[in-house]
Amino acid sequence: APAVVTLGEAMCVLQAEHIGPVRHNRSVRLGMSGAETNVAIGVRRLGVPSAWIGRVGEDPMGEIIAGELRAEGVDVTALRTDGAAPTGLMVKERRTSKVSRVFYVRSGSAGSRLSPDDVSRELVEGARALHITGITLALSESARAAVHHAIGIARDAGVLVSFDVNHRTGLWSAEEAVEHYRATAMLADVVFASHDEARMLVGDLGAAASAAAMGGLGPEQVVIKQGELGFTARIHGREYAAPAVAVPVVDPVGAGDAFVAGYLASLVRGEPPEAALRTANALGAFAVSVPGDWEGLPSVAELPLVGPLDDPVLR
Ligand code: ATP
Repeated sequence: APAVVTLGEAMCVLQAEHIGPVRHNRSVRLGMSGAETNVAIGVRRLGVPSAWIGRVGEDPMGEIIAGELRAEGVDVTALRTDGAAPTGLMVKERRTSKVSRVFYVRSGSAGSRLSPDDVSRELVEGARALHITGITLALSESARAAVHHAIGIARDAGVLVSFDVNHRTGLWSAEEAVEHYRATAMLADVVFASHDEARMLVGDLGAAASAAAMGGLGPEQVVIKQGELGFTARIHGREYAAPAVAVPVVDPVGAGDAFVAGYLASLVRGEPPEAALRTANALGAFAVSVPGDWEGLPSVAELPLVGPLDDPVLR
């Protein structure tokens, strides 16, 4: 059975071939992405079976999403085709090598029509970890209900709940979102947040203090993702930190999802926190080294290609 199960929205991506304003880069590549599909793919490439639950439209974009997930070996038995709405789309602009921006055409999409009925009890109960993100909380009432339905099933079955805050300013305001993030964090075992997202939840603290304060909400494992600075984590009462792996950045989007994939794959394998964090850091580095959000994610054998991986420092 898939060890990591996730749910959310995937979209097609129009990505310009070159760095610079999209309006001067009309030659685009049609790909797909989604925070949760990125995680499902990342985990799978590391050899851990994964599944994705979500809706796509009855259109070529939906076929691309389903096709890529199948090609990657992600379980899509719970993928649903919704004839009543189109698959969402995003235009990705790599404005500079370090700054990427996305523009959405997603409101009312098939993906946003996710509902509790879509959540496969069998998949969630059979998993080692359920991974959800704040993006799905923002999509619609029914999508938010689906997230909470899945969390309920996972908790009843003793399945680890992983939550990446993943705040999207294009979907809702921080004021609207924060209570939902806090309520969800309280139900999770593992929470991932950027330092800015942590500030939304627990106020303006340093990274280590943020991780500790977030742990106070309930989760035993909190990881603050800090981009090129690396991460600070508090796991079962101990603090860990490490700088990012030094690599040339080609496209920063997708690093957070990659990091989560590395962490979860290692965690469900029963590896210790140091190993999970080391793998997570490596996956983040792979993600920023390659143009797409997930295309550059490694197999286990490829992990050393980003360079020597230092053990996170236990503080
Ligand atoms: P996004 O939403 O853009 O995917 P995020 O804000 O969730 O990203 P980041 O903190 O940017 O996540 O990155 C996640 C992890 O990826 C970092 O903790 C680090 O391990 C790795 N990473 C990010 N940026 C770099 C970089 N420039 N060089 C090497 N590793 C990086």
